[in-house]
Amino acid sequence: MKDIKTHSIGGNAGRNRTHNRRVVLDYVRANEPTGRAEISKSCGLSFQAVSNIIEALQNEGLLVAVGHKTGERGQPAAQYKFNPESAFSVGIELRPDALICATLNLKGDCIYRERLAISDTSPAKAIPEICDMVDRAIVKIKRSREQLLGVGVVMPGPFGASEMSDLEAAIVPDWDDVDVQKVFEEALKCPVIAENDATAAAISERVAGVASAIDTYCFVYFGAGLGLGVMTNGHAQRGAFGNFGEIGHVITQVGGNECSCGNYGCLETYASRISARKFLAVRGIDVSSGAEMATLLEQNNPDFIEWIDIAAKHLSQAIGILENIFDPETIVFGGAMPDAVIDALIERLELPQGSVANRKHRTIKRVLRGSSGHFTAAIGGASLIIHQTTTPSIAVYS
Ligand SMILES: [Zn+2]
Repeated sequence: MKDIKTHSIGGNAGRNRTHNRRVVLDYVRANEPTGRAEISKSCGLSFQAVSNIIEALQNEGLLVAVGHKTGERGQPAAQYKFNPESAFSVGIELRPDALICATLNLKGDCIYRERLAISDTSPAKAIPEICDMVDRAIVKIKRSREQLLGVGVVMPGPFGASEMSDLEAAIVPDWDDVDVQKVFEEALKCPVIAENDATAAAISERVAGVASAIDTYCFVYFGAGLGLGVMTNGHAQRGAFGNFGEIGHVITQVGGNECSCGNYGCLETYASRISARKFLAVRGIDVSSGAEMATLLEQNNPDFIEWIDIAAKHLSQAIGILENIFDPETIVFGGAMPDAVIDALIERLELPQGSVANRKHRTIKRVLRGSSGHFTAAIGGASLIIHQTTTPSIAVYS
């Protein structure tokens, strides 16, 4: 993936997304039902400007009139409500072994989801599969394509032609030199935002998850490897090349396991799905899915428990590093790992005493499990589109 610049959505016929429109829409969402005079006063816009915006939003189906407010002097005022079903967005996550789809209405409710196992994630195979997946979602939710605001496409980093991504090519091969946003805008014929999986997952937990009331937090994302999303005062950190948060390649054991990146002792060689698979394969146990890991845990399989203990030890070190660097309110674990396994990892953490996060009177635990399960990154991708449409100051991007 070459370039994951984010921009305001544009070019979708009939949708003029100006700041004032977003302000009006956001106000109605929070204060419905409400009338033009109230919107005008509260949003600092002229009555005429509000009338024009409301008319346009009504024509697009985003607002609906719900009768008149009576009991006051003068003409009864028309009241308006937000219509969350008037449009929707789709988030697609490309994983090394699957495509995940989440469809959200304008309120951010997940109205459809799908997981499709795939073995070939190369652009030639994955792009048509993703287009079909979006088409299926539109049919399943019985909407028209014109109501699709856009698609958030999410995949693992690192992005761009770095030495590391060459070595990591096995994660999602052949995407290094692809301008993901451009390719999908052409294929899907709608606005597209591209994002890395860990950042999308962090955004998902803020939109509708455990971090909805938290402004500064880290999200440790269990994909095939291990990723990190960081939100600081409600803004996603992205790095200069969209490669922020490659925590899987932080070394937690000097001279330790050999990593695909060329280094030794990287965190993800101890605490990731791939590491679990390798660890168990040596012991004659073949696990290819999260469900199989959950079963091993349920059976108290001693080899799997040993892996969890080792993973927790290395994650504990990484948490100390994250806390001391970012000073987050909390750290969230989530992604392509069963909830029970994440809970078991959290339970076994030995969090370092020497951390700025180790303070009295904490109201939030130092580590939490995310609440969106393995759809979290896809939901985050879809949330990005919704946010660009309805929120006046984009809370997730600077
Ligand atoms: Zn590495």
